[in-house]
Amino acid sequence: MTAIIIDGVPIAERLRAEIAADAARFKDAYGYSPGLGVVLVGDDPASAQYVRMKRRACEQAGIASIAQLLPATSAQDDVEAAVEALNADPTVHGILVQLPLPPQINEERVLRLVSLEKDVDGFHPINLGALAMKGREPTFTPATPTGCMVLLREAGATIEGANAVVVGRSNIVGLPVALMLMKANATVTVCHSRTREIASYTRNADIVIAAIGKPHFIRGDWLKPGAVVIDVGTNRVDDPTAERGYRFVGDVDFESAKAVVGALTKVPGGVGPLTITMLMSNTMKAAWLIAQKLTM
Ligand code: NAP
Repeated sequence: MTAIIIDGVPIAERLRAEIAADAARFKDAYGYSPGLGVVLVGDDPASAQYVRMKRRACEQAGIASIAQLLPATSAQDDVEAAVEALNADPTVHGILVQLPLPPQINEERVLRLVSLEKDVDGFHPINLGALAMKGREPTFTPATPTGCMVLLREAGATIEGANAVVVGRSNIVGLPVALMLMKANATVTVCHSRTREIASYTRNADIVIAAIGKPHFIRGDWLKPGAVVIDVGTNRVDDPTAERGYRFVGDVDFESAKAVVGALTKVPGGVGPLTITMLMSNTMKAAWLIAQKLTM
C-alpha cells in the first residue's frame, strides 16, 4: 500500500481565502478590521519566526496585528501588563501569548489573565476545562489540535468509533487533541515518555497523532495497515545536501510509514499551515462575538 500524502498547504489556502472573505464582511459591517494581539517575550529565533509568520498571514487576510514585544529579562508584572493592555484594547479581538515564556515567568498566571472572550489560543483553563467535560463546548479550541482534526476530516478518516492513539501529552498539542478526539467519539489512548511498548498501542490504531518532538520516532512497522497518521512533529536535522545545511522532519519515519498506512501528513507542510489558519479562524469568531455584544 502507498499512502495518500495529506498536503496541508492547499487546505490552508482554501480556508484562508474563506477567512479573508469573512474579514472583509466584518469590516463592511463595522467599519474596522478584526485584530489579533500578540505577546512575544524574548528573542528566541524560532518563536520570533512563528510570530512573524502569524502576523504576515493575518495581515494578508485583512486581520490587523498588534504586537507587544518584551525583552527576555521582563518581570511577571511586565508580561501581565502587556496582556491587560491587549484585554482593554477594543481593536484587539484575539490574544496570542507566544509560548514558551522565559523561565522567570509563571505561564499559568499569564494565560489565566487572557480575557475569555479573546482566548483565541484556547489555552485558558476554562476553555480547556470545557473541552474536557462531557456536554460542554469551549468557545475556542487550541490551533494545532484543531488543525489535526481538520486534516483527519479532509483525509476522510472515520473518527467515531476509531481506535486513536496520541503520542505526546503536552498542554498545547497532545492533551487537547486527545480530548477533541474523545469528543468526536473515538476511543483514545495517550502514550508518553513513561509508556512501555508504544508500538503495542500504535499497531492497533486506526488514527495516530504523533506529537513528541523526536525525529523518525514512529516507524512503519509500528503502524497498522491503512491507518491515518497525523505527524505534528517538526524536528530540525542536519542535512549537508540542503542549501541551509538542515531540514525539518516529523516524528514519524515518513519513508517506512508511507508504505504501510492509508494516509500520512507531509512534514513540513502538513499540520503547520493549519495551525496559523485555525488561529485566524478563532480570531474571526472572537471578532464577531465581541462586536455583536458591543452593538447589543
Ligand atoms: P513537548 O511539550 O516537548 O511534549 C512532548 C511530548 O512527547 C510529552 O508529552 C512527552 O512525554 C512526549 N515524549 C517525549 N519523549 C518521548 C518518548 N521517547 N516516548 C514517548 N513520548 C515521548 O512538545 P510539543 O510542544 O507537544 O510538540 C511536539 C512536537 O510537535 C515538536 O516537534 C514541536 O515542534 C511540534 N509542534 C508542531 C506544531 C505545528 O504547528 N506543526 C505546533 C506545536 C508543536 P512526557 O509528558 O512524559 O514528558
